[in-house]
Amino acid sequence: MYTGGCLCGNVRYGAIEEPIFPHFCSCHMCQRWSGSAVVAWVDFPRASLTFEGNGELTLYRTCETTQRGFCSVCGSGICALDDGSEYISITIGTLDDPNLMVPESQSFPESAPSWLKIESSRIEA
Ligand SMILES: [Zn+2]
Ligand SMILES: [Zn+2]
Repeated sequence: MYTGGCLCGNVRYGAIEEPIFPHFCSCHMCQRWSGSAVVAWVDFPRASLTFEGNGELTLYRTCETTQRGFCSVCGSGICALDDGSEYISITIGTLDDPNLMVPESQSFPESAPSWLKIESSRIEA
């Protein structure tokens, strides 16, 4: 069982099934959305993911095919959902134990700030 939640605790989630594709993304959208130079994501099967909390998860459509979810109270960025996908991307930073996921790749490295150097135990240089 994987669990996580936002900064204030109003949004909590849990998932039973194993996630896939732990990765960094430094696309411009992730940067603006998070306020950070890079976001670490992991994809959980949509069917196995349950959200608790009293409707505090707000969805914002960031492009034609994708919505991003954040806590409407504290602002923590929690998830991204592509329309029709069987997976939901969850921000590794909101997991109760981020050590469980080790990013294995970096998406959109060309969009990252030039000063950013990512080191992960599983990314080949
Ligand atoms: Zn919150
Ligand atoms: Zn991105």
